[in-house]
Amino acid sequence: MSNIAYIPGDGIGEEVTRQGIKVLNYFNDLHQLGLKFEKFDLGAERYLKTGDILPDDVLNKLETFDAIYLGAVGDPRVEPGILEKGILLKLRFYFDQYINLRPIKLYKEEFCPLKGKKLQDIDFTVVRENTEGIYAGVGGFLKKDTPDEIATQEMISTRKGVDRIIKYAFEYAREFGKEPKLTVCDKSNVLTYAHNLWQRAFKEMGQNYQDVKQDHFLVDAITMKMVRNPEIFDVVVTCNIFGDIITDLGAEIQGGMGMAVSGNINPDSISMFEPVHGSAPDIAGQNIANPLAAVLAAAMMLRQLGESRLADQTEKAVVTALENNMITSDIGGELSTDQVGDYLVKTLKSNE
Ligand code: ATP
Ligand code: MG
Repeated sequence: MSNIAYIPGDGIGEEVTRQGIKVLNYFNDLHQLGLKFEKFDLGAERYLKTGDILPDDVLNKLETFDAIYLGAVGDPRVEPGILEKGILLKLRFYFDQYINLRPIKLYKEEFCPLKGKKLQDIDFTVVRENTEGIYAGVGGFLKKDTPDEIATQEMISTRKGVDRIIKYAFEYAREFGKEPKLTVCDKSNVLTYAHNLWQRAFKEMGQNYQDVKQDHFLVDAITMKMVRNPEIFDVVVTCNIFGDIITDLGAEIQGGMGMAVSGNINPDSISMFEPVHGSAPDIAGQNIANPLAAVLAAAMMLRQLGESRLADQTEKAVVTALENNMITSDIGGELSTDQVGDYLVKTLKSNE
């Protein structure tokens, strides 16, 4: 049995995750998965009404769950960043979700801006370190606001932090990889301290995973390769900033934000699954948002909860919806958000 904390959030967050919940409820009824959902009203409405962003009692309560399923937070009435920092980043650090898992997978050939790529050509996973690196917030200004000003931003790589992300990536490759193969992406030729540590950690950890092929790309080279030969990748592990950048490139080659999903993972604590897109206030409340990323995020959560078969079935239903154009207008269909969710459940039923 798994208890899921459900945070629909703002804007289209509620509309798209409702479709993911439909799919999860369908499996729950069919297979007695024992999934239990509890909804949390974190987001702009609560903040505007009460001033609360993420109170401690809610945080303590979230701690009792197995996973978090999140829509999106952000609202034009709230100063940019407040909800993102106060909710997303706070949850990430509180639960020490040191892994950001980003599958880069093409579900419809026409969505790919690269020429002649088949579905199986774009199918790999980026494992991004999520808590340290150059985003650790270490640095400062010298002689601020003078002509001699110097700003520094330090890249922090701890051996423990690098070891644990690399270990997870090897485990992930072993369990879910295609070949399996793990590629480490760094800039070790120039970042001769931080990424020297990454290199040593990767090689040493690799000794324990002789069954996983091991490979190395510099970050500049990997961007070229992701465009030219994305089919060579299986699982890629990288630091915080490079992960941030290459996953956006990945989102584009998989067909845009409407298809991209993200898991913030701590295998020993509570992980959080969400579509990559934001709350899209411009289209909120119209029942036209594309729910596929939210549904794929639900599938990713199923996989992490040990239900790989149901995750595969969900992905297959998404492919069927795309093939039959049973999709929303942003990607060339005519259905509403709710209709896409209903179609996916209907497809799952007919595939049983
Ligand atoms: P953020 O502040 O995180 O950037 P956002 O609310 O601006 O979030 P984005 O994800 O950046 O949203 O999306 C930009 C635009 O893309 C939205 O304003 C919307 O028009 C469109 N969009 C995003 N997600 C979807 C979706 N699921 N379905 C349809 N259109 C979307
Ligand atoms: Mg935006």
